[in-house]
Amino acid sequence: MPFSHLGLSEKVLAAVAASGYKTPTPIQDQAIPHVLARRDVLGIAQTGTGKTAAFVLPMLTMLEQGRARARMPRTLILEPTRELAAQVEESFSKYGVNHKLNVALIIGGVSFGDQDSKLMRGVDVLIATPGRLLDHNERGRLLLNGVELLVIDEADRMLDMGFIPDIERICKLVPFTRQTLFFTATMPPEIRRITEQFLHNPVRVEVSRPATTVATTTQLLAKSGREPIDKRDTLRRLIRSAEGLKNAIIFCNRKRDVATLHRSLLRHHFSVQALHGDMDQAARTAALEQFRKGEVTLLVASDVAARGLDIPDVSHIYNFDVPIHPDDYVHRIGRTGRAGRSGTAISIVAGSNDAKAVAAIEKLIGQPIPWMEKQPAADGAPSAAPQQTSREPQRGRGDGRRQHPHRGAPVARIDDARPRHAPQAAPPRHASQAAPPRHAPQAAPPRHAPQAAPPRHAPQQAAPPRHAPQQAAPPRSEDSDASHLPAFLLRPVPVKA
Ligand code: AMP
Repeated sequence: MPFSHLGLSEKVLAAVAASGYKTPTPIQDQAIPHVLARRDVLGIAQTGTGKTAAFVLPMLTMLEQGRARARMPRTLILEPTRELAAQVEESFSKYGVNHKLNVALIIGGVSFGDQDSKLMRGVDVLIATPGRLLDHNERGRLLLNGVELLVIDEADRMLDMGFIPDIERICKLVPFTRQTLFFTATMPPEIRRITEQFLHNPVRVEVSRPATTVATTTQLLAKSGREPIDKRDTLRRLIRSAEGLKNAIIFCNRKRDVATLHRSLLRHHFSVQALHGDMDQAARTAALEQFRKGEVTLLVASDVAARGLDIPDVSHIYNFDVPIHPDDYVHRIGRTGRAGRSGTAISIVAGSNDAKAVAAIEKLIGQPIPWMEKQPAADGAPSAAPQQTSREPQRGRGDGRRQHPHRGAPVARIDDARPRHAPQAAPPRHASQAAPPRHAPQAAPPRHAPQAAPPRHAPQQAAPPRHAPQQAAPPRSEDSDASHLPAFLLRPVPVKA
């Protein structure tokens, strides 16, 4: 069905035409008429299916009638991360060019004051992460009893991040009669329970995204020892020996590993930035900008943080960790080999768990991933890779070496030691190289601990104070930055409170 038959307003259709979309995606085709008919919708769809427009376009159409009142948003969209929230805001700017709507972003990491004055002005669309939304509500600065439409996006991600108690609480704060649009990629029991509790006779719309990888991307596996130090060594060798490497994203499964690897690569004088969930919004945006402009060659990222990436052409992807969810593999490597260009994606495989994860990936993508025929030369060997510096740490024979347990060959064990040249003394290739790692994970206590975090709000009980999340969150579980979502479809935007 063409867009013009979905019931969208003329203004929205004009914006859709301007954005170049010819036909609706299946989720848009199936969901939009029901949204416009004011039905609750349960959308089982992942990022990449066009699901954002599936709720943004009908919302814009519906919001053409009516006006917002101070502190009482008319519609509310909940997103698990700041980047996703910012991306949805961007969709409203893109499709809402012909509308005069007040759209507010209420996310952590930015000042309350600006957000508060936006709320005061009256908001048609409030896009929020759950924690900051509840903070405003508890301060009495935000009333949710005027919400006509509630969107819960990426619900299974919310579950992973420990937000379900917050979601339940928010659902009880908005009017019972509101319309609810609920999107999730998967339906674990906890999500099913929530949908049964909070959706009223929903229309179920389910679409799948083909798990394909592009033919122009060369996919390879590289064997490594199990220890992080071995993996870092393998990675450096892979990077140095890479052909045609212009820039690369290196994915880790956990935030703390992003920070560790970033520090290690800096010590080895690589041109590198990091992107992980414990960085504040300004630092994430700055890191991305540097990578996007080519001021740094490498970006070490976690899946969740990397959702903000919008980089036109990446020559190489390295999976420092094989992703736990096979779907993430497709998303990660989708950043390269775009628009017919060739790309390379290499996954470091260290041990039997990784091998199992690779088998699951191969099943998903329907093809085997070959091993590299020739592993690159040992660390410190000459290479033509563009980002290699001439100031690699020196490897002294008999100094810090050990017998490698897996390969039986001596392997330098100086990765974590300071290189002989103190990095500060070495002239950096880019300004960023000389900078110390900006974000040590220990330094940034996380707000939300995924599995281990106790629910901050038992819905039935009085809410505990929300303003000291650091103490409540066990640090260990925050290490996880796992994701089911594409790294390449979302775009960070400057945060406007
Ligand atoms: P989403 O699943 O909402 O993250 O959207 C994935 C990507 O698909 C975004 O880059 C959208 O701009 C794009 N997109 C959304 N709807 C359409 C459409 N009807 N035709 C082509 N691209 C679309």
